[in-house]
Amino acid sequence: MSTKTTAAPAEGVREVPYRLGSLQATGGRETTLEIGGRRIGGGAFATIAGPCTVESADQTLSTARIVRDAGVQLFRGGAYKPRSSPYSFQGLGQEGLDILRRAKEETGLPIVTELTDVRDVEAVCEVADVVQVGARNMQNYPLLTEIGRSGTAALIKRGLAATLKELLMSAEYVLAQGNPNVILCERGIRTYETSTRFTLDIAAVPVLKGLTHLPVVVDPSHAAGRRDLVLPLSMAAAAAGADGLIVETHPDPDNAVCDGPQQLRADEFGAYLRQVEAVAALAGRVPAPVAVPA
Ligand code: PEP
Ligand code: MN
Repeated sequence: MSTKTTAAPAEGVREVPYRLGSLQATGGRETTLEIGGRRIGGGAFATIAGPCTVESADQTLSTARIVRDAGVQLFRGGAYKPRSSPYSFQGLGQEGLDILRRAKEETGLPIVTELTDVRDVEAVCEVADVVQVGARNMQNYPLLTEIGRSGTAALIKRGLAATLKELLMSAEYVLAQGNPNVILCERGIRTYETSTRFTLDIAAVPVLKGLTHLPVVVDPSHAAGRRDLVLPLSMAAAAAGADGLIVETHPDPDNAVCDGPQQLRADEFGAYLRQVEAVAALAGRVPAPVAVPA
């Protein structure tokens, strides 16, 4: 018999992990978000696509038309870019947001764009239907809290070296402000492997689906860092039960301002999406309808 004694935790200090995001919080029911008339989660398959960054009106609007015609649900593009180097292009800022607004008006696609600085929350939320929290900001708690207060939906990317439990705790910061509109994103983690930019943790999809009612999407672009791997990683994500993808595409990736090597060629995007959706269908998911039934 062990002589070791374990003191019971004092009242009020018991750890309650991810209490709002847990699957138990909804009695096992998956959350379906409705973003600008598009459904994310709840059995549908949603694709968010667009360039890494907004470079010009031409580049952004032409990409938005191509991905809309291919049948994506939401359009992505960064106006504020969190770059590893302070000397790299940091995004067009407000000018980029204005171009995204035009893309939304022209195509009807809801906008996903990144917020990097709490001081820009109002400007970004004016245009964004979904605010992206980048991997480098996953544990920026004041930023998460402000997005929570804004009520705008948040897509939270897993940090470069964050555990899934840490990702779930970051989601709690938004949920705890009374904002239930949270999407989780697996985008690859840092490992010793150098043949890809990051290592896509495909197990994150079923693990998260077993822990949370929130939609889970995968970003194959930043995980791979290479265009040739985006299709196989996307198909793997769909087969693993992801609720969708966020993927980069550009009309002329060889001359893109950032992330050129991983961006799909826009003229090949339609063929790419058909192949991914075929796998999603095998996993029992159909593309989310454009309009949410009343
Ligand atoms: C991005 O989506 O363009 C991006 C910078 O992603 P991440 O934060 O995952 O690196
Ligand atoms: Mn990018």
